[in-house]
Amino acid sequence: MSIEANCMTCRKLFRVTPSEPQYYKLKSGQTKLYVCKDCAASLKQEAVQTTGLDPALLDPNKDDKFF
Ligand SMILES: [Zn+2]
Repeated sequence: MSIEANCMTCRKLFRVTPSEPQYYKLKSGQTKLYVCKDCAASLKQEAVQTTGLDPALLDPNKDDKFF
């Protein structure tokens, strides 16, 4: 049921299961790129540090709760 994919960031080989959204894109050939959960989390964290913004603050619907 699972397919193998190399994480494009850490280059490790992962088994991707249907519980992951990326599984279907890999399976159907829409993409060969896979980013594992650890790398996705750190990429997100890096973006936060680069911009100095919390992604939650970028949600316009939440603005009024912070000001
Ligand atoms: Zn990775």
